[in-house]
Amino acid sequence: MKVSVKPGRIIMGRLQKGDDLLVALQLICSDQQIKLGDIRALGAVKKARIGYYDQDRRDYSFFDVAQHLELLALVGNVSIRDAKPFLHAHVTFANDRGETFGGHLAEGTEVFACEFTITEYFSSTAFERSHDDETGLFLWR
Ligand code: ZN
Repeated sequence: MKVSVKPGRIIMGRLQKGDDLLVALQLICSDQQIKLGDIRALGAVKKARIGYYDQDRRDYSFFDVAQHLELLALVGNVSIRDAKPFLHAHVTFANDRGETFGGHLAEGTEVFACEFTITEYFSSTAFERSHDDETGLFLWR
């Protein structure tokens, strides 16, 4: 699919120390009723939980990085899943040696500091996620 969209609001802000990175951003998207958009963020976390989609098993596995990390980049999008705004985000973190970890952002990542920008889009086509039999993922139709 390939759809032309129009920009709406741009929302910038920061999260609170101790927030769950995914939950807090998801809540902002829900509160602001963002049905379609993209999101960027940077900052630092106390610890991270990251997912990896195993294409053979067709399921996520998760790993924890139990140390303070820089959040180099969070890139994600917002669309509709189960009739609600749903945030899908990927992250790259770095440790005190500049070594990086990354993957699919999971619940359990604790914010130290985080600055975010959410750009809302409007589209005549709804971006709704549903189960894709070929990949096992919930993808846009
Ligand atoms: Zn993902």
